Amino acid sequence: SPLSTESKILVVGAGTWGCSTALHLGRRGYKYVTVLDPYPVPSPISAGTDLNKILELGSFAGDDADERYVSNKLLEAATEGWRNDPVFKPHFHETGCILAATSDEARNHMNTRDGPSEAGGWIPLRTKEDFQATMPNGVLTGEFPGWQGWWMQKGAGWVHARKSMESAAREAARLGVKFIAGEKAGRVTSLIYGSSDVQGAITADGTRHFADRTILCAGASAAALFDMKDQLRPTAWTLAHIKMTPEEAKLYKDLPVLFNIERGFFMEPDEDNHELKMCDEHPGYCNWIPDTSSEDSRQISSPFAKHQIPLESEARCRAFLRETMPHLADRPFSFARICWCADTPNRAFLISKHPDYASLVLGVGGSGHGFCHIPAIGSFIADAMEEKLDDKLKQSFRWRPETAKGRDWKALQGRFGPEGANRVMDFQDIKQWTNIASR
Ligand code: FAD
Repeated sequence: SPLSTESKILVVGAGTWGCSTALHLGRRGYKYVTVLDPYPVPSPISAGTDLNKILELGSFAGDDADERYVSNKLLEAATEGWRNDPVFKPHFHETGCILAATSDEARNHMNTRDGPSEAGGWIPLRTKEDFQATMPNGVLTGEFPGWQGWWMQKGAGWVHARKSMESAAREAARLGVKFIAGEKAGRVTSLIYGSSDVQGAITADGTRHFADRTILCAGASAAALFDMKDQLRPTAWTLAHIKMTPEEAKLYKDLPVLFNIERGFFMEPDEDNHELKMCDEHPGYCNWIPDTSSEDSRQISSPFAKHQIPLESEARCRAFLRETMPHLADRPFSFARICWCADTPNRAFLISKHPDYASLVLGVGGSGHGFCHIPAIGSFIADAMEEKLDDKLKQSFRWRPETAKGRDWKALQGRFGPEGANRVMDFQDIKQWTNIASR
């Protein structure tokens, strides 16, 4: 049916992209928008339920001019939102960032033609003193063995993830979007198929939610709801928090983000609980299990929730701390979890109408850099639904199963890890996990 503001629109998933989509549909005047999720915002399994995320530092485009166009377009729209949209502005911290690498291979990856440069406003960091001087005395007490990097003092930084998502959902609800949450009432068990189209979705309580357009924004869980033809690889990363004292929180306020692309990253402690979040860097964990829904002996990477991380991940976090802030390296973790995202084969987003199901719109493939786009990604998703994306965006975001044929599931996809973890790992091999008391 032709689309109008009277159309019924169903959004599956109230995570990062689902909340953004809800907001932009509300702003465009759609009157009957419903969002389904097993949990009220912020969903504990959403990749966005997190203290902070980096506002994208570079493009994932490489040398291709069209990809660079897309990457810039996305970043411009996001930055505009972080700077000027009252829904997001309070949650952006333009503290600058430090990008670093240790091995030759990772340095080469960092120092590409479009990478950081003095001409681009970056300050080179070559010695441990250079690194230490980027933050107040007493923060970076480490030796930075073998580190080289760059410092950008403005134009990048971090965003409060959970608060931005809550803010988007709140504004969407104010504009009339209906959120249905709950293990039964909100969890989608399947889409509704009929007349060679998708007509909505069924929730665990058996309710059939019919809609004129169905938008799939279920993040890493999307592949379990719709056959994505191997275009999504659910992959998890690991994060941990360290409790800081009020004095430390003061000293650590407004620090730039520090990101070594093969060690990990951290941002300043959060203002509410004084917890410093860090991630150890690696190409990710999959969870390979037999696909019970298929006849052949296929394996699928199946997401699961866990508020612990592998002990080997804890060891990597502590090794990263030892190089940067050894005074914190032995402090217990106050919180940890695994966090799922979904990688497309080229890490470009997949935002498109489905070629065979005219009413189905896909908003997936965050590929590890999808959070910082929350201010505007829903507008691109709404454009895809309204068939208004420009040609280059449409081409980049397209449904592209041909690119996932015979996919190398172990591809590093441009990521690095320290020795021993410079590969895509499998949770099925993990025997030991942290044992952090739940809050
Ligand atoms: P999600 O936010 O995960 O949302 C999916 C939603 O679907 C959830 O709310 C879930 O409850 C819901 N859902 C699941 N199953 C169902 C169902 N059956 N029915 C209905 N709903 C369902 N990006 C950055 O830009 N900068 C960063 O620094 C950064 N760091 C990251 C660090 C880690 C550790 C991880 C894991 C990711 C990071 N990302 C970062 C990536 C970013 O978080 C994701 O790309 C983005 O959050 C994806 O949004 P999404 O809406 O696709 O998925």
